[in-house]
Amino acid sequence: MSLRRLLMHSPIAVATLWIVVYLLFALFPLLVLLLHPLPSGRGFWTEFSVALGFIGLALMALQFVLTARVNRIEASYGIDILLQFHRYTAMVAFVMVLVHPVILFIVQPETLQLLNFFQAPWRARMAVLAMLAFLAMVVTTIWRKQLKIPYEPWRASHSILAVLAVGLGFGHAIGVGNYLGLFWKAMLWSGIMLISLWLIIYVRLVKPWLMTKKPYIVEAVYPQRGDVWTLALRPLGHAGFTFQPGQFAWLTLNITPLSMREHPFSMSSSGDRADRIEFGIKAIGDFTKRIKDYKPGTKAYLDGPYGVFTIDRYWDTAGFVLIAGGVGITPIFSILLSAAERKDDRPFLLIYAAATWDDVTYRENLEELKQALDLKIVYVLRKAQDDWEGETGYVDQALLEKYIPLHRGTRQYFICAAPVMMDAVERALFELNVPITNIHMEHFNLA
Ligand SMILES: Cc1cc2nc3c(=O)[nH]c(=O)nc-3n(C[C@H](O)[C@H](O)[C@H](O)COP(=O)(O)OP(=O)(O)OC[C@H]3O[C@@H](n4cnc5c(N)ncnc54)[C@H](O)[C@@H]3O)c2cc1C
Repeated sequence: MSLRRLLMHSPIAVATLWIVVYLLFALFPLLVLLLHPLPSGRGFWTEFSVALGFIGLALMALQFVLTARVNRIEASYGIDILLQFHRYTAMVAFVMVLVHPVILFIVQPETLQLLNFFQAPWRARMAVLAMLAFLAMVVTTIWRKQLKIPYEPWRASHSILAVLAVGLGFGHAIGVGNYLGLFWKAMLWSGIMLISLWLIIYVRLVKPWLMTKKPYIVEAVYPQRGDVWTLALRPLGHAGFTFQPGQFAWLTLNITPLSMREHPFSMSSSGDRADRIEFGIKAIGDFTKRIKDYKPGTKAYLDGPYGVFTIDRYWDTAGFVLIAGGVGITPIFSILLSAAERKDDRPFLLIYAAATWDDVTYRENLEELKQALDLKIVYVLRKAQDDWEGETGYVDQALLEKYIPLHRGTRQYFICAAPVMMDAVERALFELNVPITNIHMEHFNLA
């Protein structure tokens, strides 16, 4: 099979290719730096420390690609896996950048005086400031909730600190000049830095500006069971977009997208209807509690669709097991609605956990969908009323074993729920010999 055909037919091959590209980009600048002419007469540890610094800087620059919502990359992994990777590689970069001066301090103790901020040359001051920016980023990200930093100020400061850390880090490398003394090497690194800067300008300014050209208006807002509100949007002066059911979009309401105060929500309507896009939004915080107050006619903006939590990627699978907890039903509801409209005749099993019978969002609509689909629904209530004859408690291994088909590998499993439930269900499915590649999860808590 040719490489092109392989890439067209195998998502795993595409995902692997992205990893190879990533590694090349992470290591390429270092390989170029090692080309002639090399600084002479420096020991192994000094060179090793410099190499760590450069790879750390390249990894930091690559973070801008990981978070730029590049659709092609995102489509191979899903946003939660990309963000996990972003977190892990940022930590790796942080450790490298931190170890880089520590080695120098050990092998060349005289370099310790560069820590004297007021007397040190600018190149050393830039290194210290870059390190402080990086440290602030790591601390405010890991302990954001403990430090009580609201999501939006955190996100804005995260971008500013990232630009500072990378810019100052690069300034330090140019200032030291040992490896970047040659014009073309300095140009190569400048190119990498400019691409990173462009990506952040594109994501924060250009893309939001393009979104202002494609507004939506609120067509309706109405309540559902479980403290969830349906927000229905209509495209204004353009065609809107279709999507793969289960995907999500970033929503901005009643303010310009340039303000960057957007929130991710899964579409809950049919993926094939571009003229009316609906969301099911649970009132849990500052933004979501205000959804009910927005009036028809309010302007809205969408950036999407994104995500890989969709049955459209598994057209040749025999059927689906969908497992939802609370508001995690929204992407799954879209999957079922779209399947009904497309007259999909494969079996669907929905295991749906909610607090009480009254909290079962879209209950009536789901029951209706049974007419159009081969759909079995198992409701699992945490607090059931006295006359409830269905399942109670939690979705555990015993419950799953009772309902999922014996030939486990013939189905794809989609889970969207609170993190604790998703972890427990994933473990239970694994114990029940469901192949790990058949399990797909959507996390609502990105940050
Ligand atoms: C892929 C995806 C799909 C989602 N789909 C739905 C859905 O269909 N229905 C639904 O009700 N909720 C959904 N969510 C969750 C929803 O985005 C958050 O509940 C909402 O952004 C909370 O905002 P808030 O200001 O009301 O709450 P806050 O009290 O400010 O935040 C509560 C928590 O939500 C997260 N959060 C807040 N703002 C953002 C933001 N701008 N971007 C990312 N995370 C944020 C943070 O972890 C925060 O700690 C989804 C989340 C993701 C990542």
